[in-house]
Amino acid sequence: MYDKNNIFAKIIRKELPAKIIEETNDFLCFEDIAKASPTHWLVVPKTKDRNFSEFVSNNHPETISNFYKFIQNLVKKYNLEEQGYRLITNCGESVGQTVFHFHVHVMSGKKLSSKLA
Ligand code: 5GP
Repeated sequence: MYDKNNIFAKIIRKELPAKIIEETNDFLCFEDIAKASPTHWLVVPKTKDRNFSEFVSNNHPETISNFYKFIQNLVKKYNLEEQGYRLITNCGESVGQTVFHFHVHVMSGKKLSSKLA
């Protein structure tokens, strides 16, 4: 069950501080507190979904599409296309998910390992 007091829910409600990159009524992008690359953002929808599977199952296709377009707009606005970027979504504890509010990591700005595991 979705925990409405998870860290990202608190950041969305502004109960916890975060370095916000962009925000709309539906989505939020903020900097990861433990950056693993010069650009390391977390992008979240303001829905109550624990992970990717729930987000896709529980929401209208337009919301899902708009979420990825929000990321694409950020990528363009901050010129990440030129240098390259990586999107990561962990789904489940066994693959490293630690915060159970669906999110996409956006990483860029240095050569990242080609090894994903
Ligand atoms: P996950 O491991 O679930 O894929 O990613 C969770 C991410 O959230 C981690 O990269 C971690 O550094 C980040 N994180 C954890 N707590 C906070 C916080 O309080 N503020 C911010 N901005 N990021 C956090």
